[in-house]
Amino acid sequence: MAVASAAGDRLERAIALTARLVAHDTTSRNSNLALIEDVRAYLADHGVEARLTHDTGGAKANLWATIGPPVAGGVVLSGHTDVVPVDGQTWASDPFALSRRDGRLYGRGTCDMKGFVATALAMVPEMVAAPLRVPIHLALSYDEEVGCLGVRGIIADVTRNLPLPRAVIVGEPTSMQLIGGNKGTRVYRTTVTGLPAHSSLPSQGANAIVAAAGLIGFLEELGHELAAGADPASPFDPPCSTFNVGVIEGGTAHNIVAETCRVIWSVRLVPTDDADAIEERVRAFCAERLEPALKAKAPHAGVVTERLTDVPGLSPDPTSAAEALVRLLTGLNASGVVAYGAEAGLFQQAGIPAVIFGPGSIDQAHKADEWVAVDQIAACADFLGKLTDWARTAA
Ligand SMILES: [Zn+2]
Repeated sequence: MAVASAAGDRLERAIALTARLVAHDTTSRNSNLALIEDVRAYLADHGVEARLTHDTGGAKANLWATIGPPVAGGVVLSGHTDVVPVDGQTWASDPFALSRRDGRLYGRGTCDMKGFVATALAMVPEMVAAPLRVPIHLALSYDEEVGCLGVRGIIADVTRNLPLPRAVIVGEPTSMQLIGGNKGTRVYRTTVTGLPAHSSLPSQGANAIVAAAGLIGFLEELGHELAAGADPASPFDPPCSTFNVGVIEGGTAHNIVAETCRVIWSVRLVPTDDADAIEERVRAFCAERLEPALKAKAPHAGVVTERLTDVPGLSPDPTSAAEALVRLLTGLNASGVVAYGAEAGLFQQAGIPAVIFGPGSIDQAHKADEWVAVDQIAACADFLGKLTDWARTAA
């Protein structure tokens, strides 16, 4: 009975904290400072100090906190504080007021991923009381949903200034299944500048839309090439890197040779593909096959490609300390991969092994009436209880 009620207390604390976090509208375009200050105050109440790193404008912050000794070899619980917008979505209840019904917690971010962050925070009193021999760190970031921007500041701070942790658990929704890999993403904007002319005399101009079409055709071709070279044993679906042309805008009228065209395109990368090499192929195509014809008409014409985001994938590594720890604590022995982006690859790139493992299903993320099952929060709290026990006794 005592065990059951302890678990029940934990769960109720996690739900209350989820409500507290959901009440802060931390849509990525907003400041997240009110939430960060709220969390800082909560931690301070438990005698835990927080360390903040800010964005350049000072309107957003990451929070890092350590429970246990300030030594190397700790375990990081990592979550983002921002959420996607509710614009244009129809909700049955206020997205920023937690609504508990039918065994579910409804609200923006309940699933992705304030439920996880709240459950980690709910464990703080137990972690403090343990006390821990292996430190557990909390890493809460801003601007994950717009390109995993904030967490880079945490990683820079940790790798330069703090004892290195052994493993990171990124609590994105995986239905509490162990995820060891995801694809990386790079997003680009290519701007083609041509030379306008009357459409009756196309040879006097340089058509930016036609040049952009050349780029799009090349991406399609390169996509086929990558698919043909894919590793058949790859756990990813599809097993290769893929391109998407998401936005195109250009031209002014049917009777004017188009002067400009912008294309926003992206590539989802299997971790074994070389993102730089792929980017270089596209840049070389633009420089060698598109630009000469444009520049022949107008010296100022040309093709400029800017990289807007670069989030590395997570390379599956069943031997990593992060996978080993989650396996040990859960008994799970298979790890999978997911299609969505996450911060885990950035930690791995910095030399800190990471996995993705958290409550809720990605099917419920980003949608109207986002929810997480109470059972999933309970399972996460149970896991974090095991982690706390391990960190209390481990060497
Ligand atoms: Zn997320």
